[in-house]
Amino acid sequence: MFRYLLAVLGLLACVAPAAPAADRPPNVVLFFCDDMGYADVGCYGGKTPTPNIDRLAAEGARFTDFYASTAVCSASRAAILTGCYHRRVGIEGALPPKSKIGLSAAELTLPEVFKRKGYATGMAGKWHLGDAPQFLPTRHGFDEWFGVPYSHDMWPRHPANPKAYPDLPLMEGTAAAGGKEAVDTVLKLNPEPGELTAAVTARAVRFVDAHKSEPFFLYVPHPLPHVPLGVSPAFAGKTGLGLYADVIAEIDDSVGQVLAAVKRNGLDGDTLVLFSSDNGPWRLYGDHAGSAGPLREGKATSFDGGVREPFLARWPGHVPPGTVCKELAVTFDLLPTLAKRIGADLPADRTIDGKDIWPLMTGAAGATSPHEAYYVYWGGALQAVRSGRWKLHLGHPYQTPAPPGGGGKPGKYATRTIGVELFDLEADPGEATDVAAANPAVVERLQALAERAREDLGDAATKRVGKGVREPGRL
Ligand code: MG
Repeated sequence: MFRYLLAVLGLLACVAPAAPAADRPPNVVLFFCDDMGYADVGCYGGKTPTPNIDRLAAEGARFTDFYASTAVCSASRAAILTGCYHRRVGIEGALPPKSKIGLSAAELTLPEVFKRKGYATGMAGKWHLGDAPQFLPTRHGFDEWFGVPYSHDMWPRHPANPKAYPDLPLMEGTAAAGGKEAVDTVLKLNPEPGELTAAVTARAVRFVDAHKSEPFFLYVPHPLPHVPLGVSPAFAGKTGLGLYADVIAEIDDSVGQVLAAVKRNGLDGDTLVLFSSDNGPWRLYGDHAGSAGPLREGKATSFDGGVREPFLARWPGHVPPGTVCKELAVTFDLLPTLAKRIGADLPADRTIDGKDIWPLMTGAAGATSPHEAYYVYWGGALQAVRSGRWKLHLGHPYQTPAPPGGGGKPGKYATRTIGVELFDLEADPGEATDVAAANPAVVERLQALAERAREDLGDAATKRVGKGVREPGRL
């Protein structure tokens, strides 16, 4: 009988799922759009047809409660690339051209994690973590990059501040190697917005083809659908739903082209493809902004419309098709998650805020969020805390378009305030009904979590300096 039991157990061990990629670590492609709304793509309820992005969801995992670190470009990028809250690594807001600060050389970045394991690393898109030479992607782990060093509205054709910005460079660069210095070159000045998506896509496809025989990490932070909008001639009027929808359709086509390149090179089963965005829609631009669907507000606010993003993960044979995850996860979880998949160690001398979310991505039974709380900062101020289904706003001002602009021109912001208000995001994802009075114990618990964050990450609203905050890079 005992022998029989052992035999059965042995059989069970044989049919248990194999450990991921024991033979070959995966390639990783990370799409990170700019200012895309929660509901801009089909699989999140968007009206624009996005068959390629929807395919990532159908053939992989879709997260419903996935967050950026904060609702603005540079800070959000600092988080996804360092595995930390932007507050921890000292990057706030959207860095201007000729910024005197940038990503610190002391931080370990996602491409540097991949370099430790011998990967080829490339980037095509928008950087926005400092445009001085020492801050560029070639000094932060990318073998090569192509794109814009910051947002493409920071140029002499800005609709409201044309004199505020120098010419916008379209650049490429290669990292130091074989005794040669890093080289970053300006290819042209003031590229048309409508040429960016296609140019980024062409570089991404070229990178996949060039590195088909070795493990690679490809970061594709599309400069759009951030304003100013534009599309290739082939996408002009394509959706019949307006220019913004045409932009989304071209980004969807970009995902399709990269997936086709992966398949063409026989790499489907060896490639994890991830898709998300840095922050929610810039509603100030009216019809040139996306939609956060049922979520409140958008970019530059601490409401879910500003910080909750689409997140998709496809890796055939490893991420079960049609997986839906409703647990809370954050962009900064990708660094530790991917490090573990490729067998790279993380430094023990510093705090990394991200956690391994592989059990969530693969739909493991009973897997729950590794985060007791997610802290929503805006401009150094702690504005809200989410824990489980609950989100507590701590009392803060915010800006809302009143009225929004249109046709590529910004509207005007009005300042509003929200008090200490509690929302049940499961019942009320639009943060409309304050339930603080009915749930005093929940308010107290989330206030205590907020206090923990203030001690660690600081809080401009209560003039607290965080003990765990690190310096950005400085010129
Ligand atoms: Mg953005």
